[in-house]
Amino acid sequence: MTSLWIKDVRPWGGPATDLHVVDGLFVAAPAGPEAAVVAGGGRIALPALVDAHAHLDKTSWGTPYRPHSAGATLAALIDNERANRGDLGPVRERAGALLDRHIERGVLHVRSHVDVDPTIGLDSVAGVLAAAADRAGQVTVEVVAFPQSGLLTRAGTAELMAEAIDAGAHLIGGLDPAGFDGDPIRHLDTIFGIAADKNAGLDIHLHDRGTLGAWQIERIAERTKAFGLPGRVTIAHCYALSTVDDVRQGSLIELLAAADIALTTTVPGTTPQLPLARLMAAGVRVGLGHDGVRDLWSPYGTGDLLDKALMLAVTSGYRQDADIERTARLATEGGAAVLGLPDYGLEPGCRANLLLLPAESVVEAITQRPVDRTVIAGGVVVS
Ligand SMILES: [Zn+2]
Repeated sequence: MTSLWIKDVRPWGGPATDLHVVDGLFVAAPAGPEAAVVAGGGRIALPALVDAHAHLDKTSWGTPYRPHSAGATLAALIDNERANRGDLGPVRERAGALLDRHIERGVLHVRSHVDVDPTIGLDSVAGVLAAAADRAGQVTVEVVAFPQSGLLTRAGTAELMAEAIDAGAHLIGGLDPAGFDGDPIRHLDTIFGIAADKNAGLDIHLHDRGTLGAWQIERIAERTKAFGLPGRVTIAHCYALSTVDDVRQGSLIELLAAADIALTTTVPGTTPQLPLARLMAAGVRVGLGHDGVRDLWSPYGTGDLLDKALMLAVTSGYRQDADIERTARLATEGGAAVLGLPDYGLEPGCRANLLLLPAESVVEAITQRPVDRTVIAGGVVVS
């Protein structure tokens, strides 16, 4: 039995208390005298950060900086990646380097989309799964088999996605069934069919804006119910929700809530942010993701999810504490709800995955993003 006594910390910036951990779980009773001690020094305690939308296979983290080389359109970005990804080095090493960065920043749960196509096959899935296994006990990684280069437009991809689940991937992905793949009904029927057949969840990239995107949200909601997958479907980005009128937005949010479809945002720079207050009032689960970190899609990203929380607060025009704190909830509990993490939180019975930050309040932690952090995974100090 191993135990840890985390002294003088303030959960979510509240009153100071001690946290006790036995065999990796928080317990209500004080840890025994044999417990190892972490001196909290009055720091804030937050449950581990959850990156609900990542692309670990694409990152160049740990390799030299390279200038951005892609054109402006989605097709140009995808072509550029296909032309240059071979130069980046092994997925296992790059994904591992980024996971090490995540652990250091307190991001202990990651859902990563991983490219699957007839050229790379399942190599990237294997690389990310290996990088995650190398860090078992410190970070958990969910893998989404992702048809980045097209599903219907790239023959053989659907079969590979099904094989990816057999090889250890957790969810089936999708990509702009209309705007990129060009046949939304067949695209959706294909990925829902694979998910139902493999008893896997779905996480679908949907950048299509306005009424085209809204129409696809409705089709996704229909299939979520028809295939018996409420609670197991996520829509990533979902720009349509913030680019339709208020009335349509309201009816879409009702559909999402009724089918228990979750959303993730990665804080777009060129599209209005998701209507978070309205989504949360309706009970829709929403998580925050870092998206690509320094890859062939963009030079941005630091691996610190608090940076994204700050970007979300700034681009949403938040000034009130309650609004800014909402971004921290998305980066923690929101993502945990999207991933369906069991035993998540700071209460007795939860797994002791947390970070300690020198800040007066959660808002100050977001606005200042202190570098000095203590990160604890399963009751063990890992950074
Ligand atoms: Zn993505």
